[in-house]
Amino acid sequence: MSPGVHLRSQTPTSLAALWPDLRLDEHLSRRIVSRVVGEDRDDLEDVRGLSRRMLEALGARARATRLQVIDRRASRIDPFVKYLFRAADGRVFETVRIPLERPRWSVCVSSQAGCALGCAFCETGRLGLARDLEPWEIVEQVLTVRREGPERPVTGVVFQGQGEPFQNYDSVIRAAEILRDPCGARIGGDRITISTVGVLPMIERYTAEGHPYRLILSLTSAFQEKRAGLVPLARRYPVDALAAAMRRHAQRRGGPVNLAWVSMAGVNTGADEARELGRLFAGMKVRLSIIDVNDPRGRFHPPAEAERKAFFSALAENGIGFVRRYSGGADIHAACGMLACQSVGGVAFQRRGRGGENGGDAETGIFAVSASSGLTLPPLRPLR
Ligand code: SF4
Repeated sequence: MSPGVHLRSQTPTSLAALWPDLRLDEHLSRRIVSRVVGEDRDDLEDVRGLSRRMLEALGARARATRLQVIDRRASRIDPFVKYLFRAADGRVFETVRIPLERPRWSVCVSSQAGCALGCAFCETGRLGLARDLEPWEIVEQVLTVRREGPERPVTGVVFQGQGEPFQNYDSVIRAAEILRDPCGARIGGDRITISTVGVLPMIERYTAEGHPYRLILSLTSAFQEKRAGLVPLARRYPVDALAAAMRRHAQRRGGPVNLAWVSMAGVNTGADEARELGRLFAGMKVRLSIIDVNDPRGRFHPPAEAERKAFFSALAENGIGFVRRYSGGADIHAACGMLACQSVGGVAFQRRGRGGENGGDAETGIFAVSASSGLTLPPLRPLR
């Protein structure tokens, strides 16, 4: 019986199996998950079928605490909003609210505070890894966006914030299950996307387990040597092996090979890249999502229009389907590759460990909202 059990880290099935002596059956567990995730509430007082004895036992064994939002910023150039969260141990991480057409929200969530992998084009990698996030800390990012933007439904989640999701595999899969569950956040499995830079054993495990979420490999170069210079993890898992794993995944799923491409002028926009992609995925349907690099340190630049067009033509000639994606919020460091907690000092903050004297009791109490720490949060600027 661990007081460390967080109710928002549980699916109905996992909760029902946790404490046999409590006899929380699946029905009751569904109502509890529905209360703390679906309804986004912290109290269990009037959950139907929950006896006083059960309630007291849950009070002693479990918690339903919250993260603290310590900063939120709306972009001035587009309708993206970035949240900065602080956990009880002082660790900080970020989330981006993405506006979709129709209108809806998608949420770009972090799976780790910081990241250990150090990709050359990504500011998060400079932070290093502080720690993995727990499932409830991922779920809470989505619930916060839903709570603060009720004028639109949240219909999509992308694991593309801080961290490499497949280095925190179990928590990411558990969080996705809770987000998808009809008692949880009720987000369609096909609207949840997990993006990896290529943790090969986990791609294979994910394929074998048959999850319904979309898997996307951030490839960024089809050449092993070049890729290893951009994504250090590539030294361990070479391009050919990753391509084979993604082919197997797509064949098992019956869909296209989903790839992401951070587009950098003079680096990975040549016809040779398109030809190599054609070779790696010959006979497969490929969907390549191309995002311009965002490098606040100015080492990498997005391609100019002529270079971009030539790359697109080469992709088409080699049978590679592609879509150019917009990654917004660059002015607030919310765009892809820019999440580095700049508003609290970025790398310097993370290296101080727990955020120094700023770390602390963000998460308190049993079934209590920690929420107010005395901080006055700025109102969101209206979205255009
Ligand atoms: S691109 Fe992803 S895996 Fe690479 S450093 Fe950034 S967050 Fe980590």
